[in-house]
Amino acid sequence: MTAQLIDGKAIALETRKALRPRVEALIEKGITPGLTVIMVGDNPASAVYVRNKEKASQKLGMNGTVLHLPEETVEEELIALVKKLNADDTVHGILVQLPLPKHIEEKKVLNAIDPQKDVDGFHPVNAGKLLIGEKAYVPCTPKGVIRLLKTTGVELSGKNAVVIGRSNIVGKPMALLLLQENCTVTIAHSRTQNLSEITKQADILVAAVGKPNFVSGDMVKPGAIVIDVGINRVEDKLIGDVNFDEAKEVASFITPVPGGVGAMTIAMLMENAVEAAENYAAK
Ligand code: NAD
Repeated sequence: MTAQLIDGKAIALETRKALRPRVEALIEKGITPGLTVIMVGDNPASAVYVRNKEKASQKLGMNGTVLHLPEETVEEELIALVKKLNADDTVHGILVQLPLPKHIEEKKVLNAIDPQKDVDGFHPVNAGKLLIGEKAYVPCTPKGVIRLLKTTGVELSGKNAVVIGRSNIVGKPMALLLLQENCTVTIAHSRTQNLSEITKQADILVAAVGKPNFVSGDMVKPGAIVIDVGINRVEDKLIGDVNFDEAKEVASFITPVPGGVGAMTIAMLMENAVEAAENYAAK
């Protein structure tokens, strides 16, 4: 079998188009959705992500701003900036690009963001709400994965879903969202034993490991939906966590890298930022 491609790029484009009337409606009310991205230091991958976020928000007619701080910025300065943005009524979404330099404690900075402006969904208040099934800002990458899964038309309820990876950014929220869709969810991680026996039970397999070509074709159940979250830079090329050529012969649907989950992540950020501005407007 050759799997059908889930075209993240095209689906992301549609998603972003659908946001345009919502942005226009806000602008008519005198509220231009404002998204501020803070970047500290000169991580080249982060610089690309930040530029893409700025471009995407400006293209939608939002007020997209990047504040680029030097590597030697101290934690207190960064937190003071976050608090200033919390109090700024023209800023509806705040995102601190990770990773931060080692001398800054990420947790402290993320916790300083007003949960109502936390468009990345990393604040403990939003993480907790997601856990108990309350409305919250949901981390963009797993939120985008659910959207991609829904485009397949396959009923998610009752399916065996396996997520490889347990990070706070991808793996854990991914598992919670799949649970909300009534999947039977297994989280595999670096200490998991007999991984391929577990992955071979998966009707839906999500790889968020950070290791190029980690999931081989023989780890995939025939007919499974395979979602590759991984973005690994190998000799200037972007490679996923899934061995695409092998897995596509076994799976029913598969996401490519690039052009899969990554494209959708930015679209979900835009959606969260528009939602934050709408929530502000409704106050
Ligand atoms: P992370 O390093 O925080 O987590 C990796 C996870 O993989 C860990 O929980 C670990 O337990 C698990 N793991 C490591 N080795 C393993 C093994 N041998 N067997 C099973 N599990 C193992 O990474 P992350 O932030 O969750 O990101 C994962 C990947 O997704 C990376 O490639 C990252 O670049 C990518 N990513 C992509 C997007 C996107 O928009 N597409 C967004 C975020 C992250």
